[in-house]
Amino acid sequence: MPRTPDEVYTDLIRRVKAVALLDSCGALLHWDQQTYMPSRGSEHRAEQLALLAGLAHAQFTAPDIGDLLSEAALGGGAGVPGSSVAVNLREIRRAYDRATRVPRKLVEELARTSALAHDIWVEARRASDFARFSPWLAKLVVLKREEAAAVAGGGVLYDALLDEYEPGETVERLTPIFDELRTALVDLVGRIAGSPKRPDTSILHRAYPIAAQEAFGRTVAAAVGFDFQGGRLDVTAHPFCSGIGPGDTRLTTRYNLHDFGDAFFSILHEAGHGLYDQGLESEHYGTPMGEAVSLGIHESQSRLWENFVGRSRAFWEYWLPRAQEAFPEALTGVALDAFVFAVNEVRPSLIRVDADEATYNLHILLRFELERALIDGGLSAADLPEAWADGMERLLGIRPPDDAQGCLQDVHWSGGSFGYFPTYTLGNLYAAQFFAKARTELGDLEEQFRRGEFLPLKVWLNRKIHREGQRHRAADLVVAVTGEPLSPLHLLRYMSDKFGALYAV
Ligand code: ZN
Repeated sequence: MPRTPDEVYTDLIRRVKAVALLDSCGALLHWDQQTYMPSRGSEHRAEQLALLAGLAHAQFTAPDIGDLLSEAALGGGAGVPGSSVAVNLREIRRAYDRATRVPRKLVEELARTSALAHDIWVEARRASDFARFSPWLAKLVVLKREEAAAVAGGGVLYDALLDEYEPGETVERLTPIFDELRTALVDLVGRIAGSPKRPDTSILHRAYPIAAQEAFGRTVAAAVGFDFQGGRLDVTAHPFCSGIGPGDTRLTTRYNLHDFGDAFFSILHEAGHGLYDQGLESEHYGTPMGEAVSLGIHESQSRLWENFVGRSRAFWEYWLPRAQEAFPEALTGVALDAFVFAVNEVRPSLIRVDADEATYNLHILLRFELERALIDGGLSAADLPEAWADGMERLLGIRPPDDAQGCLQDVHWSGGSFGYFPTYTLGNLYAAQFFAKARTELGDLEEQFRRGEFLPLKVWLNRKIHREGQRHRAADLVVAVTGEPLSPLHLLRYMSDKFGALYAV
């Protein structure tokens, strides 16, 4: 007795949920590795993680998954665009095709080469010696081109890599948006550099007792709606958020006695990611309808809380008096305007992860240019340091004195992640456009922030974005939420308003 398409669909969903459970076991082990695992456990942990990843990959790429997808597509729900069934089938098909088009031999070679290249990169960065990493980067580029060719089927190679992180996005769509952003930001950062006004950032580098930093960070994360009954906050070397599954979302940060902003803004950033994960529909867990749209949309949620809310004057009108109670020695007598200016300093610098809100996107636009040229063949790996330094000079007016502070600073390429960088700037662009829309729909947001009310915004994001899972691709979600396609104007207007006022430019 042949099964109906609906029965096949139910079976398919059961199978992909099992894969998601395996992945979430891996995520939990990974979180533990970054937080509490004793250092000698790393070899055993690598074996555990490799086993789970292998099991998940084998289960997801089993040939009969392709058959189930084809049969389920004949069911009624599959033909209703935007229905849960149609969305799940569309996105499972996309992931399945990606996962099965790349030959197994290439997958293994990429895994092996990127693991080795990563270790070489760690050494090369420590020694600030690009020549050591260069042949490995060249090898990775060749393999990634092969992977892209297998996935793209004659299309643009870079798009096939970008698609892994930002499904459906293309260079053709991004280029005019990024060009407009680049021109305006170079101008804005240049005008700020010429301003005589400078914040006193020493305020942020006084002594901030770590226990008080942790308590204050927790209080603020809870106030913006992060649910600690379904989440945690722990310490790690590099802050991250891990959505383990329904009811279990884990934030991490790091504390530095003499740097208030480092821990505080990373807690707020990761809490933004955490609100997205906590806002996904648990009934859809393990299927595309219960997953985030893309890295860019995920990043929009973290940047929205970190920057658009957390670096606003209205936010600190409410929180500064409370911070002064938590850190009386550092903050007694500090004026609101001085504090707000200090957390909004703009200054061209060499390292992306330390960059401020205005210069950050220029770091990304440089990487976008360079990785595209590497993949297209217009730039050879050996010429990267020179191209990097020239780009930094052109965009930010500074030249790295060595490779460690130049093209060796980021981990991404050493692990074979090409096409990842643009998702950071997309996150900022999406955040600006969502935030502008929220302001028109939620009344006076600033007035709400001044009163310590952050839940209306959080609930709006839950409703408009989180609960929708992958119903829309990122570009369509932007239109669905804001009524217009992605435009750089929202981010540019926000920045010129804020920094124009602070720096009088
Ligand atoms: Zn993030």
